[in-house]
Amino acid sequence: MKKFAGWLGLSLAVCTYTSCTTSRTAASLSVDITKPTTVTLQKKKDFIFQKGSIGFSNKFSAARLNKVTAVNDSTYSVLILPENNPVNPSPWYAFKIWSKKNRQVYLQLQYQQVAHRYNPKFSINGKQWQRIDDVLLNKDSTTASFKVTLTANDTAFIAAQELIDLPSSYLWIDSLASVSGIYKQVIGNSINNNPIVCLNTKAASGKEIIVVLSRQHPPEVTGYRAMQHFVNKILDRSPLSKKFLERFEVIIIPTINPDGVDEGHWRHNMAGVDLNRDWEHFKQPETQAIRNYIVSTLIKQQAKIYFVIDFHSTWNDVFYTNTDDKRSNAPGFINDWLKALEQSIPSYKVNANSSGNRSNVSKAWFDRICDAEALTYEVGDNTSAEFLKTKATIAAEKMMELLLQTRALQ
Ligand SMILES: [Zn+2]
Repeated sequence: MKKFAGWLGLSLAVCTYTSCTTSRTAASLSVDITKPTTVTLQKKKDFIFQKGSIGFSNKFSAARLNKVTAVNDSTYSVLILPENNPVNPSPWYAFKIWSKKNRQVYLQLQYQQVAHRYNPKFSINGKQWQRIDDVLLNKDSTTASFKVTLTANDTAFIAAQELIDLPSSYLWIDSLASVSGIYKQVIGNSINNNPIVCLNTKAASGKEIIVVLSRQHPPEVTGYRAMQHFVNKILDRSPLSKKFLERFEVIIIPTINPDGVDEGHWRHNMAGVDLNRDWEHFKQPETQAIRNYIVSTLIKQQAKIYFVIDFHSTWNDVFYTNTDDKRSNAPGFINDWLKALEQSIPSYKVNANSSGNRSNVSKAWFDRICDAEALTYEVGDNTSAEFLKTKATIAAEKMMELLLQTRALQ
């Protein structure tokens, strides 16, 4: 408790020094970046072939398409590059394609040195998506070839995952904030001046908090979907939800990297930095905004954070937990919660992997500094929409049940 009080004093100074809502430009930030990196923006344009009878475009939010070259009348090479290097091998792509006549087109995604990761998804309306699994890879998997069937005058989307662009992320927040008892606030701005938006529920005492985070990494759409189901369950106004929200305040920050989402980045923000490696020195405006908001809330409300859940995607479903054996604000909660989750989903086995809390990722900071039980909730790139919903919904239910069993702070 003493250590925590000390931290609060220090944090107050930090929070005052770096204004919680100051917007910054890339230029003013450059002095703050440990390793300044130039992010290369893709040129937004239409790529037109055969006198306008076939075209490609990256002129929309979350698009990623660097160049298209015609190999022959029916085959096109599509260059997909990251925002900067080095970068995690998660080559995100998203583009539109159209044709004036019915035809089959062969596409070759070229990632240069990076291996293919996401099999393409195809959609006409941007809402229903079909997987394309018939994908041929070259020897080192840096080229992925597949066929698409185009219908005259339809415009199709092709993307690495179902497309959730920046406007639709804000629309989802607005839809939740229109419900009574849920509040929206802007807690800071990204380098491109996109708002970092936070949703709150206000509990009676304001002393017991849980935090939900998501989309530090733009392509991690399955993790974002799981976060939505998790949040929907907490806010569904069932008797359990009502009881939970009377006691616990929920802080939800659904899109931590709005610029990365909007620009179709593979991983980073506009400074070329992985935001989930910035939870120690907080050099980026996105992570600064969240730290300052969290710390000022803890001070103002004399509150404690019980649980932090940060949604991501990776190859397979896995929970990254903290190993450190120290007393948290909800001792043993994560162990109990994982057990309850396993018992509640038929034939499901929890896959958990623990590491120390000295690293620069969100779960470590919340554990080390806020004494919260904290983890990274990773959803597999190919986990089905149905299973990720079931698991996230039960995860929310079990979290509420277990936290309600803890002794309330006075
Ligand atoms: Zn991630």
